[in-house]
Amino acid sequence: MKPSVIQPSAMLGMLGGGQLGRFFVIAAHEMGYKVTVLDPDKNSPAGMIADVHLCAAYDDVAALKAMAETCQAISTEFENVPAQTLATLAQSTIVHPSAEAVAIAQHRVKEKTFFKEAGLPVGPFVAITSEADLPADGDMYPAVLKVARFGYDGKGQARVANQAEAKAAFQNFRQEVCVLEKMLPLDLEVSVVLARDVHGNIAAFPTAENSHLNGILDVSIAPARCTEVIKANAQELAKKLATKLDYVGVLGVEFFVVGNQLLINEIAPRPHNSGHYTIDACVTNQFEQQVRVITGQVLGSPRQHSKAVMVNILGNSWLYRGKQQEPAWDKAYAHGNLKMHLYGKHEPREGRKMGHFTVIGEDAQAVLNVAKVARSELH
Ligand code: ADP
Ligand code: MG
Repeated sequence: MKPSVIQPSAMLGMLGGGQLGRFFVIAAHEMGYKVTVLDPDKNSPAGMIADVHLCAAYDDVAALKAMAETCQAISTEFENVPAQTLATLAQSTIVHPSAEAVAIAQHRVKEKTFFKEAGLPVGPFVAITSEADLPADGDMYPAVLKVARFGYDGKGQARVANQAEAKAAFQNFRQEVCVLEKMLPLDLEVSVVLARDVHGNIAAFPTAENSHLNGILDVSIAPARCTEVIKANAQELAKKLATKLDYVGVLGVEFFVVGNQLLINEIAPRPHNSGHYTIDACVTNQFEQQVRVITGQVLGSPRQHSKAVMVNILGNSWLYRGKQQEPAWDKAYAHGNLKMHLYGKHEPREGRKMGHFTVIGEDAQAVLNVAKVARSELH
Protein backbone atom coordinates (compact mmCIF):
# COMPACT_ATOMS: atom_id res chain seq x y z
CA MET A 1 0.00 0.00 0.00
CA LYS A 2 1.23 3.45 -0.86
CA PRO A 3 0.87 6.09 1.84
CA SER A 4 -1.78 8.68 1.02
CA VAL A 5 0.63 11.55 1.58
CA ILE A 6 4.14 11.41 0.18
CA GLN A 7 6.54 13.20 2.50
CA PRO A 8 9.96 14.74 1.84
CA SER A 9 12.52 13.48 0.92
CA ALA A 10 10.78 11.13 -1.49
CA MET A 11 11.75 10.95 -5.15
CA LEU A 12 9.23 12.45 -7.60
CA GLY A 13 9.18 11.97 -11.35
CA MET A 14 8.82 14.55 -14.11
CA LEU A 15 8.12 13.71 -17.74
CA GLY A 16 9.79 16.39 -19.79
CA GLY A 17 12.83 18.53 -19.08
CA GLY A 18 11.86 21.97 -20.39
CA GLN A 19 11.48 25.14 -18.34
CA LEU A 20 8.20 23.97 -16.81
CA GLY A 21 9.98 20.85 -15.57
CA ARG A 22 12.85 22.99 -14.33
CA PHE A 23 10.53 25.13 -12.19
CA PHE A 24 8.96 21.93 -10.87
CA VAL A 25 12.42 20.70 -9.83
CA ILE A 26 13.15 24.02 -8.12
CA ALA A 27 9.83 23.94 -6.24
CA ALA A 28 10.27 20.27 -5.29
CA HIS A 29 13.79 20.92 -4.01
CA GLU A 30 12.61 23.84 -1.90
CA MET A 31 9.91 21.61 -0.47
CA GLY A 32 12.38 18.86 0.37
CA TYR A 33 11.71 16.38 -2.43
CA LYS A 34 14.03 14.85 -4.99
CA VAL A 35 13.24 14.68 -8.69
CA THR A 36 13.98 12.31 -11.54
CA VAL A 37 13.50 13.94 -14.95
CA LEU A 38 12.90 11.96 -18.13
CA ASP A 39 13.97 13.87 -21.25
CA PRO A 40 15.93 12.72 -24.31
CA ASP A 41 17.94 15.97 -24.45
CA LYS A 42 21.11 15.81 -22.37
CA ASN A 43 21.07 19.60 -22.01
CA SER A 44 17.43 19.89 -20.99
CA PRO A 45 16.80 22.77 -18.55
CA ALA A 46 15.22 20.49 -15.93
CA GLY A 47 17.50 17.51 -16.51
CA MET A 48 20.54 19.68 -15.74
CA ILE A 49 19.34 20.44 -12.20
CA ALA A 50 17.48 17.20 -11.41
CA ASP A 51 18.73 14.64 -8.88
CA VAL A 52 18.50 12.03 -11.61
CA HIS A 53 18.25 12.68 -15.33
CA LEU A 54 17.06 9.74 -17.40
CA CYS A 55 18.22 10.72 -20.84
CA ALA A 56 15.84 8.62 -22.94
CA ALA A 57 12.74 8.77 -25.11
CA TYR A 58 9.28 9.12 -23.54
CA ASP A 59 8.39 5.58 -24.52
CA ASP A 60 11.70 3.98 -23.54
CA VAL A 61 10.71 0.80 -21.70
CA ALA A 62 13.79 0.61 -19.46
CA ALA A 63 13.57 4.30 -18.49
CA LEU A 64 9.87 4.03 -17.68
CA LYS A 65 10.55 0.93 -15.59
CA ALA A 66 13.26 2.79 -13.67
CA MET A 67 10.89 5.71 -13.11
CA ALA A 68 8.06 3.51 -11.92
CA GLU A 69 10.38 1.73 -9.51
CA THR A 70 12.10 4.78 -8.04
CA CYS A 71 9.49 7.57 -8.11
CA GLN A 72 6.68 7.79 -5.58
CA ALA A 73 4.58 10.05 -7.80
CA ILE A 74 4.95 11.34 -11.34
CA SER A 75 3.66 14.30 -13.32
CA THR A 76 4.27 15.86 -16.72
CA GLU A 77 5.31 19.24 -18.05
CA PHE A 78 4.64 18.35 -21.64
CA GLU A 79 1.26 17.47 -23.18
CA ASN A 80 2.78 15.51 -26.02
CA VAL A 81 4.15 12.76 -23.83
CA PRO A 82 2.43 9.61 -25.17
CA ALA A 83 -0.77 9.00 -23.18
CA GLN A 84 0.29 5.34 -23.13
CA THR A 85 3.38 6.29 -21.14
CA LEU A 86 1.20 7.78 -18.42
CA ALA A 87 -1.11 4.77 -18.46
CA THR A 88 1.84 2.37 -18.14
CA LEU A 89 3.37 4.30 -15.24
CA ALA A 90 -0.02 4.57 -13.53
CA GLN A 91 -0.16 0.79 -13.23
CA SER A 92 2.59 0.84 -10.63
CA THR A 93 2.86 4.34 -9.23
CA ILE A 94 0.87 7.57 -8.68
CA VAL A 95 0.51 9.62 -11.87
CA HIS A 96 -1.30 12.96 -12.24
CA PRO A 97 -2.80 14.12 -14.54
CA SER A 98 -4.35 10.95 -15.95
CA ALA A 99 -3.63 9.51 -19.38
CA GLU A 100 -7.28 10.18 -20.30
CA ALA A 101 -7.08 13.90 -19.49
CA VAL A 102 -3.78 14.30 -21.33
CA ALA A 103 -5.16 12.40 -24.36
CA ILE A 104 -7.94 15.00 -24.60
CA ALA A 105 -5.65 17.99 -24.14
CA GLN A 106 -3.17 16.77 -26.76
CA HIS A 107 -5.75 16.42 -29.53
CA ARG A 108 -7.58 19.56 -30.66
CA VAL A 109 -10.59 17.70 -32.05
CA LYS A 110 -11.06 15.64 -28.87
CA GLU A 111 -10.51 18.78 -26.81
CA LYS A 112 -13.09 20.96 -28.60
CA THR A 113 -15.58 18.09 -28.73
CA PHE A 114 -15.15 17.58 -25.00
CA PHE A 115 -15.85 21.29 -24.31
CA LYS A 116 -18.97 21.17 -26.45
CA GLU A 117 -20.31 17.98 -24.91
CA ALA A 118 -19.60 19.29 -21.41
CA GLY A 119 -21.77 22.31 -22.17
CA LEU A 120 -18.80 24.69 -22.05
CA PRO A 121 -18.76 27.67 -24.42
CA VAL A 122 -16.56 27.16 -27.46
CA GLY A 123 -16.36 28.96 -30.82
CA PRO A 124 -17.61 27.38 -34.07
CA PHE A 125 -15.34 24.55 -35.27
CA VAL A 126 -15.39 21.59 -37.64
CA ALA A 127 -13.26 18.44 -37.39
CA ILE A 128 -11.36 17.87 -40.65
CA THR A 129 -10.25 14.34 -41.43
CA SER A 130 -10.47 14.64 -45.22
CA GLU A 131 -10.88 17.43 -47.78
CA ALA A 132 -14.57 16.63 -48.01
CA ASP A 133 -15.01 17.89 -44.43
CA LEU A 134 -13.91 21.43 -45.36
CA PRO A 135 -17.01 23.62 -45.32
CA ALA A 136 -18.06 25.49 -48.46
CA ASP A 137 -17.51 29.25 -48.56
CA GLY A 138 -19.82 30.98 -46.12
CA ASP A 139 -20.20 31.49 -42.36
CA MET A 140 -17.14 29.52 -41.24
CA TYR A 141 -14.67 31.83 -43.01
CA PRO A 142 -12.31 33.50 -42.43
CA ALA A 143 -11.00 30.65 -40.31
CA VAL A 144 -7.91 29.12 -38.74
CA LEU A 145 -6.91 25.60 -39.74
CA LYS A 146 -4.96 23.88 -36.94
CA VAL A 147 -3.37 20.45 -36.95
CA ALA A 148 -4.97 18.36 -34.20
CA ARG A 149 -1.69 17.21 -32.68
CA PHE A 150 1.72 18.62 -31.78
CA GLY A 151 0.91 22.28 -32.45
CA TYR A 152 2.25 24.88 -30.04
CA ASP A 153 3.21 28.56 -30.04
CA GLY A 154 1.12 29.08 -33.18
CA LYS A 155 2.90 26.28 -35.08
CA GLY A 156 0.77 24.01 -37.27
CA GLN A 157 -1.78 26.76 -37.90
CA ALA A 158 -2.86 28.58 -41.04
CA ARG A 159 -5.26 31.47 -41.47
CA VAL A 160 -7.57 30.83 -44.41
CA ALA A 161 -10.08 33.13 -46.12
CA ASN A 162 -12.12 30.53 -47.98
CA GLN A 163 -12.47 26.84 -48.87
CA ALA A 164 -9.82 26.98 -51.58
CA GLU A 165 -7.24 28.35 -49.13
CA ALA A 166 -8.34 25.82 -46.53
CA LYS A 167 -7.77 23.02 -49.04
CA ALA A 168 -4.29 24.29 -49.83
CA ALA A 169 -3.44 24.56 -46.13
CA PHE A 170 -4.80 21.07 -45.45
CA GLN A 171 -2.58 19.71 -48.26
CA ASN A 172 0.32 21.60 -46.79
CA PHE A 173 -0.33 19.87 -43.43
CA ARG A 174 -0.15 16.54 -45.30
CA GLN A 175 -3.84 15.90 -44.69
CA GLU A 176 -3.27 15.28 -41.02
CA VAL A 177 -6.40 15.47 -38.88
CA CYS A 178 -7.14 19.15 -38.29
CA VAL A 179 -9.70 21.39 -36.72
CA LEU A 180 -11.10 24.35 -38.64
CA GLU A 181 -12.07 27.20 -36.34
CA LYS A 182 -13.98 30.30 -37.29
CA MET A 183 -11.73 33.34 -36.89
CA LEU A 184 -13.09 35.26 -33.93
CA PRO A 185 -12.87 39.04 -33.43
CA LEU A 186 -10.96 38.84 -30.15
CA ASP A 187 -11.21 41.73 -27.72
CA LEU A 188 -8.86 40.07 -25.28
CA GLU A 189 -7.33 36.74 -24.33
CA VAL A 190 -7.32 35.60 -20.72
CA SER A 191 -6.31 32.45 -18.90
CA VAL A 192 -6.83 30.71 -15.60
CA VAL A 193 -4.35 28.30 -14.06
CA LEU A 194 -5.74 26.09 -11.34
CA ALA A 195 -4.81 23.07 -9.27
CA ARG A 196 -7.30 20.33 -8.47
CA ASP A 197 -6.46 17.65 -5.91
CA VAL A 198 -7.57 14.02 -5.64
CA HIS A 199 -10.44 15.03 -3.36
CA GLY A 200 -11.80 17.50 -5.90
CA ASN A 201 -10.62 20.64 -4.06
CA ILE A 202 -9.68 23.43 -6.44
CA ALA A 203 -7.36 26.40 -5.95
CA ALA A 204 -7.48 28.77 -8.92
CA PHE A 205 -4.98 31.56 -9.50
CA PRO A 206 -6.33 34.97 -10.50
CA THR A 207 -7.32 35.41 -14.15
CA ALA A 208 -4.44 36.70 -16.27
CA GLU A 209 -4.57 38.71 -19.49
CA ASN A 210 -2.36 37.53 -22.33
CA SER A 211 -0.99 39.09 -25.47
CA HIS A 212 0.76 37.13 -28.18
CA LEU A 213 3.35 38.04 -30.77
CA ASN A 214 3.67 35.80 -33.85
CA GLY A 215 1.54 33.16 -32.10
CA ILE A 216 3.79 33.06 -29.02
CA LEU A 217 2.80 34.38 -25.61
CA ASP A 218 4.54 37.72 -25.16
CA VAL A 219 3.14 39.39 -22.05
CA SER A 220 0.82 38.29 -19.22
CA ILE A 221 -0.79 40.85 -16.96
CA ALA A 222 -2.29 39.71 -13.66
CA PRO A 223 -4.91 40.42 -12.68
CA ALA A 224 -6.42 40.85 -16.15
CA ARG A 225 -7.67 44.31 -17.13
CA CYS A 226 -11.25 43.36 -17.89
CA THR A 227 -14.52 43.48 -16.01
CA GLU A 228 -14.87 41.67 -12.71
CA VAL A 229 -17.71 39.67 -14.29
CA ILE A 230 -15.49 38.33 -17.06
CA LYS A 231 -12.70 37.50 -14.60
CA ALA A 232 -15.12 35.68 -12.30
CA ASN A 233 -16.74 33.83 -15.22
CA ALA A 234 -13.34 32.63 -16.38
CA GLN A 235 -12.66 31.28 -12.90
CA GLU A 236 -16.01 29.50 -12.80
CA LEU A 237 -15.66 28.00 -16.28
CA ALA A 238 -12.13 26.77 -15.57
CA LYS A 239 -13.31 25.08 -12.36
CA LYS A 240 -16.30 23.55 -14.11
CA LEU A 241 -14.05 22.24 -16.87
CA ALA A 242 -11.57 20.70 -14.41
CA THR A 243 -14.38 19.03 -12.51
CA LYS A 244 -16.08 17.65 -15.64
CA LEU A 245 -12.73 16.27 -16.76
CA ASP A 246 -12.21 14.83 -13.26
CA TYR A 247 -8.81 16.45 -13.61
CA VAL A 248 -6.11 16.01 -10.96
CA GLY A 249 -3.05 18.23 -11.30
CA VAL A 250 -2.30 21.74 -12.52
CA LEU A 251 -4.37 22.87 -15.50
CA GLY A 252 -4.03 25.91 -17.75
CA VAL A 253 -7.21 27.11 -19.44
CA GLU A 254 -7.02 29.68 -22.27
CA PHE A 255 -10.03 31.83 -23.13
CA PHE A 256 -11.07 34.17 -25.89
CA VAL A 257 -13.04 37.25 -24.90
CA VAL A 258 -15.43 38.43 -27.61
CA GLY A 259 -17.56 41.30 -26.34
CA ASN A 260 -19.17 40.04 -23.15
CA GLN A 261 -18.73 36.46 -24.19
CA LEU A 262 -16.07 34.07 -22.94
CA LEU A 263 -15.12 31.12 -25.12
CA ILE A 264 -12.70 28.38 -24.16
CA ASN A 265 -9.78 28.19 -26.58
CA GLU A 266 -7.64 25.34 -25.29
CA ILE A 267 -6.31 23.62 -22.20
CA ALA A 268 -2.84 22.58 -21.11
CA PRO A 269 -2.56 19.60 -18.73
CA ARG A 270 0.34 21.18 -16.86
CA PRO A 271 1.51 24.51 -15.49
CA HIS A 272 1.14 27.25 -18.08
CA ASN A 273 3.38 30.05 -19.34
CA SER A 274 0.69 32.56 -18.38
CA GLY A 275 0.95 31.26 -14.79
CA HIS A 276 4.62 32.17 -14.42
CA TYR A 277 3.61 35.34 -12.64
CA THR A 278 2.56 33.15 -9.68
CA ILE A 279 6.25 32.46 -8.93
CA ASP A 280 6.80 36.03 -7.77
CA ALA A 281 3.31 37.37 -7.11
CA CYS A 282 1.38 34.62 -5.30
CA VAL A 283 1.62 32.91 -1.92
CA THR A 284 1.96 29.53 -3.64
CA ASN A 285 3.20 29.21 -7.20
CA GLN A 286 1.85 26.90 -9.88
CA PHE A 287 4.82 24.51 -9.64
CA GLU A 288 4.63 24.20 -5.87
CA GLN A 289 0.94 23.44 -6.41
CA GLN A 290 1.92 20.67 -8.84
CA VAL A 291 4.21 19.15 -6.20
CA ARG A 292 1.46 19.46 -3.60
CA VAL A 293 -1.13 17.73 -5.79
CA ILE A 294 0.98 14.72 -6.71
CA THR A 295 2.32 14.23 -3.18
CA GLY A 296 -1.17 14.47 -1.68
CA GLN A 297 -0.33 17.54 0.38
CA VAL A 298 -3.07 20.11 0.91
CA LEU A 299 -3.20 22.79 -1.82
CA GLY A 300 -1.46 26.06 -1.01
CA SER A 301 -3.08 29.49 -1.08
CA PRO A 302 -3.26 30.91 -4.62
CA ARG A 303 -3.64 34.45 -3.26
CA GLN A 304 -1.90 37.11 -5.33
CA HIS A 305 -0.01 39.49 -3.06
CA SER A 306 1.43 41.80 -5.77
CA LYS A 307 0.29 43.09 -9.12
CA ALA A 308 2.35 41.42 -11.82
CA VAL A 309 3.41 41.72 -15.44
CA MET A 310 5.32 38.80 -16.95
CA VAL A 311 7.35 39.21 -20.13
CA ASN A 312 8.74 36.28 -22.10
CA ILE A 313 12.34 36.48 -23.29
CA LEU A 314 12.77 34.73 -26.64
CA GLY A 315 15.89 33.78 -28.53
CA ASN A 316 15.10 36.82 -30.69
CA SER A 317 16.55 38.99 -27.91
CA TRP A 318 19.99 37.54 -28.70
CA LEU A 319 19.61 37.70 -32.44
CA TYR A 320 18.70 41.34 -32.79
CA ARG A 321 20.66 43.45 -35.28
CA GLY A 322 21.32 40.23 -37.15
CA LYS A 323 24.14 39.03 -34.93
CA GLN A 324 24.31 37.04 -31.79
CA GLN A 325 24.87 39.07 -28.67
CA GLU A 326 23.72 38.90 -25.09
CA PRO A 327 20.71 41.00 -24.11
CA ALA A 328 21.46 43.94 -21.82
CA TRP A 329 20.93 42.05 -18.57
CA ASP A 330 22.35 44.80 -16.39
CA LYS A 331 19.61 47.16 -17.55
CA ALA A 332 16.94 44.65 -16.56
CA TYR A 333 18.58 44.01 -13.19
CA ALA A 334 18.65 47.76 -12.57
CA HIS A 335 14.92 47.53 -11.85
CA GLY A 336 14.56 46.49 -8.22
CA ASN A 337 11.04 45.08 -8.65
CA LEU A 338 11.99 42.92 -11.61
CA LYS A 339 12.44 39.20 -11.02
CA MET A 340 14.54 37.50 -13.71
CA HIS A 341 14.22 33.83 -14.61
CA LEU A 342 16.56 32.33 -17.21
CA TYR A 343 16.13 28.70 -18.16
CA GLY A 344 19.74 27.70 -18.81
CA LYS A 345 19.20 26.99 -22.52
CA HIS A 346 22.39 27.24 -24.53
CA GLU A 347 21.15 28.03 -28.01
CA PRO A 348 19.10 31.20 -28.48
CA ARG A 349 16.97 30.37 -31.51
CA GLU A 350 14.29 32.62 -32.94
CA GLY A 351 10.98 32.01 -31.15
CA ARG A 352 12.61 29.82 -28.48
CA LYS A 353 11.59 30.63 -24.92
CA MET A 354 14.87 31.36 -23.14
CA GLY A 355 13.52 32.96 -19.98
CA HIS A 356 11.05 35.47 -18.62
CA PHE A 357 10.89 38.28 -16.14
CA THR A 358 8.12 39.42 -13.89
CA VAL A 359 7.75 42.93 -12.55
CA ILE A 360 5.79 43.11 -9.31
CA GLY A 361 4.45 45.96 -7.23
CA GLU A 362 1.42 47.55 -5.65
CA ASP A 363 0.33 49.76 -8.52
CA ALA A 364 -0.77 47.97 -11.69
CA GLN A 365 0.01 50.87 -14.01
CA ALA A 366 3.47 51.45 -12.51
CA VAL A 367 4.25 47.75 -12.83
CA LEU A 368 3.19 47.77 -16.47
CA ASN A 369 5.28 50.86 -17.19
CA VAL A 370 8.43 49.30 -15.70
CA ALA A 371 7.81 46.07 -17.62
CA LYS A 372 7.52 47.99 -20.89
CA VAL A 373 10.71 49.93 -20.24
CA ALA A 374 12.61 46.79 -19.18
CA ARG A 375 11.37 44.93 -22.24
CA SER A 376 12.51 47.64 -24.63
CA GLU A 377 15.91 47.95 -22.93
CA LEU A 378 16.71 44.26 -23.44
CA HIS A 379 17.01 44.67 -27.18
P1 ADP B 1 -1.22 27.27 -29.48
O1 ADP B 1 -1.28 25.83 -29.11
O2 ADP B 1 -0.19 27.56 -30.51
O3 ADP B 1 -1.18 28.17 -28.27
P2 ADP B 1 -3.86 28.42 -29.95
O4 ADP B 1 -5.03 27.67 -30.46
O5 ADP B 1 -3.93 28.89 -28.55
O6 ADP B 1 -2.59 27.51 -30.24
O7 ADP B 1 -3.62 29.65 -30.93
C1 ADP B 1 -2.58 30.59 -30.73
C2 ADP B 1 -3.13 32.01 -30.82
O8 ADP B 1 -3.69 32.25 -32.12
C3 ADP B 1 -4.26 32.30 -29.86
O9 ADP B 1 -3.78 32.62 -28.57
C4 ADP B 1 -4.95 33.47 -30.58
O10 ADP B 1 -4.22 34.67 -30.40
C5 ADP B 1 -4.85 33.08 -32.03
N1 ADP B 1 -6.05 32.30 -32.43
C6 ADP B 1 -6.17 30.96 -32.40
N2 ADP B 1 -7.40 30.56 -32.78
C7 ADP B 1 -8.09 31.67 -33.07
C8 ADP B 1 -9.45 31.93 -33.51
N3 ADP B 1 -10.31 30.93 -33.75
N4 ADP B 1 -9.82 33.22 -33.70
C9 ADP B 1 -8.95 34.24 -33.47
N5 ADP B 1 -7.68 34.06 -33.05
C10 ADP B 1 -7.23 32.80 -32.85
MG1 MG C 1 -2.65 28.62 -26.93
